[in-house]
Amino acid sequence: MLSGLLAFCFVVAVLFGWSRAATQLDGQAYDWMFATSQTAGWQAKSALLAIDEASLIEMGGARNLRARLAEVLPRVCAAKPLAVAVDLMLSTDEDPKVDAALAAAFRKCPSVVLGTDIVRKDSIWEEPVADFRKVAAALGHVHADPDPVSRRIPLEKAVAGKRYWALALEAFRLSKQAGPILETPDDLEVGLTKIPAGRATARSVYINYVPAAIPQVSLKEVSKKPEAAMLFSGKVVFVGYTDQSAARDRLMTPMGQLMTGVEIHANLFETLQQGEFVQDAAVSLPVLLTLGAVVGMGLIFAFLSGWIAWVATFGLLSVIHLTPRWLFASETFLGPTMLFSGTWLATIVAASYHHFVIRGQWKKSEADKSRYQQAIHFVTHEMKTPLTAIQGSSEIMSRYKLDDEKQKQFAQMIHSESKRLGSMIQTFLDVERLAEGEMELKQEPFALSGVLLASLERARVLAERKEMTMNVGAIPAGQLKGDKELLEYAFYNLLNNAVKYSPERTGIECLCTVEGGKVRVAIRDQGMGMDAVDLKKIFDRFYRSKRAEESGISGTGIGLSIVNEIVKQHQGRIDVESEVGAGSVFTVVLPFTPSATVDSEVGNANQRTIITR
Ligand code: ADP
Repeated sequence: MLSGLLAFCFVVAVLFGWSRAATQLDGQAYDWMFATSQTAGWQAKSALLAIDEASLIEMGGARNLRARLAEVLPRVCAAKPLAVAVDLMLSTDEDPKVDAALAAAFRKCPSVVLGTDIVRKDSIWEEPVADFRKVAAALGHVHADPDPVSRRIPLEKAVAGKRYWALALEAFRLSKQAGPILETPDDLEVGLTKIPAGRATARSVYINYVPAAIPQVSLKEVSKKPEAAMLFSGKVVFVGYTDQSAARDRLMTPMGQLMTGVEIHANLFETLQQGEFVQDAAVSLPVLLTLGAVVGMGLIFAFLSGWIAWVATFGLLSVIHLTPRWLFASETFLGPTMLFSGTWLATIVAASYHHFVIRGQWKKSEADKSRYQQAIHFVTHEMKTPLTAIQGSSEIMSRYKLDDEKQKQFAQMIHSESKRLGSMIQTFLDVERLAEGEMELKQEPFALSGVLLASLERARVLAERKEMTMNVGAIPAGQLKGDKELLEYAFYNLLNNAVKYSPERTGIECLCTVEGGKVRVAIRDQGMGMDAVDLKKIFDRFYRSKRAEESGISGTGIGLSIVNEIVKQHQGRIDVESEVGAGSVFTVVLPFTPSATVDSEVGNANQRTIITR
């Protein structure tokens, strides 16, 4: 049952873990882990030549950009940068003189990478015009592919049969003076650097954003103060727009900041430069961990209980919640949604199961224990009377010299009391075994009159002591089926209670009626009665009404539960009606086979009075 529920939790968690909603949640978890684990200390190996607002104003707008770049780039490159990555679209021919000057400026720079872009509506590459392409060491795509946060960038992009590496990757390769990029299905190799960017993820890598902003100098500043270009010495230069009104929107980073495209590409370069890559955990890992967590929760609640179970739950939950962080510290990203949802689902299900089912079982076993103790109490209590008689008689016999007649009397007394004791124990044990399903009921037919008269006879002795009358109606001739002794015990118990819970000199009535294959034996008294609450509980083991307890009448509250069990085992039922202070009627309804021949002993009697004072 529990394992079925947990298997269900596991399947739900796995399916949810693969949903779009979970992917988004995982993305947010990534952002949080990334933002809180960034550490300072990295020296940027790139710098931005920023086309900011001030530069645009000063140069008289973007149409003069190429001319200004042609003027500034030689200064930048005089500072000996390692490479220059240009995140600008140079896909149209403009003023031939200016273009020639810019191409000449590019020629003076080491390793120029020019940007290329996929024009979405045509799905074709928008490449630099031939004059610029000629002077470029490489072309690189400038896509950032936010989703909607720029967490990772695909290192390759292909459309219309043409593929380009990312601008930053090309700049990185050129800065390392490495040859062509080597490809395997799982990674790329640039010189000595291995980049775990598999084909399955379009060769994308998580951007390890540098903690502080990438250093930058504006175009305007370099044109005004040539020495400002010294910042680019030994670095990879990224040229691009940083102004607010730049055509390309700023994109969201995992740290919750908006960042320009050129800065994001510079950060991708820094990631490659650092050579530390966060990688997605294997697809099977969250599934296996979720399975482990669900099974763990199941074991905790199946085998532990009380505070130990809760401490273990807390421990497991803590480990589960810390696992993605630990993995992230060793550069593995595990989307936690599947794991967390599976674990919590399993916790709720297992805890509820524990609460409602296992606790229920535990309570039952506690109740069984106390029932056992009470049973012992019952046996000893009920045994006391015959035992006292036996002890008393045997003591008298051993102490005094008795004549034969007396000796015989005492010996008979010992014999009959020990027999009673034996049958009492037997009855009790039989009922216990019947209730536990360990014993089969006898299936003998016997006359109703036999059992009823035998129990009435026994009860008569008790009634006499309290000077009570006992009226018995005609006992229909016919047969019951089952265990005669048990039924006698049941009737006797009801009669015994009727006497016990009634004041002296009141009356008891026993009336039988037959209808539709059943006999109803009603035992009516004029005793203390019971209220509605008592009526609901009197067949529970060890239940005694408050009135019975306070009256000082001794009892154990087990008799009726045994009677009920016996009657049930005989396919019968007991109805009870009662009124406080007025009396009670216990009616036993049992399957009955009436005889064709009239039982002469009792059948003729309309109303026989067994005892009348
Ligand atoms: P015991 O008599 O040993 O207490 P029983 O199981 O025979 O145990 O009865 C359970 C309780 O039902 C009694 O304690 C008493 O409160 C109530 N009860 C049973 N029979 C009668 C009755 N005839 N009149 C009033 N109360 C009764």
